[in-house]
Amino acid sequence: MAEDGKTCDVEGCNEPAERSISNKKVEASGLPVPGGKGNVRLCRAHYREMKKRNKRNLPDYVG
Ligand SMILES: [Zn+2]
Repeated sequence: MAEDGKTCDVEGCNEPAERSISNKKVEASGLPVPGGKGNVRLCRAHYREMKKRNKRNLPDYVG
């Protein structure tokens, strides 16, 4: 767990969070994150996974 207590919001993941991303983008990728938040935090691995999935799911996705 990260020393500052900020960990990845993906279900079952305890890696330190590196990025804060719009929940909509993360949900679009299909990663299991808690709903109802404006932003979710992702670790490096899940951030890359989210981008990879969104590139496939959302052809116009940028960022
Ligand atoms: Zn993660």
